Amino acid sequence: MARCKGTTRKGTECRLNAMKGSDYCAVHLTQDPAAPSGREAIEDLEGRLSQTAKTALGFAILAGIVLRALIKK
Ligand SMILES: [Zn+2]
Repeated sequence: MARCKGTTRKGTECRLNAMKGSDYCAVHLTQDPAAPSGREAIEDLEGRLSQTAKTALGFAILAGIVLRALIKK
């Protein structure tokens, strides 16, 4: 997988992998001059990120339930 061509806020090279079809990662997608401008691209990205967040949250809740059950024993 290609490396992101974006730069961090510190001015150093980004070490994340670029997203599919882009030279930039999700964080630096806005630095891509070839990226489609406008809300559509941002909304698409937000949709993907929120889906990942929901999955992560689901695992966190599940882990919390399991931990609580173990502690009660
Ligand atoms: Zn990046």
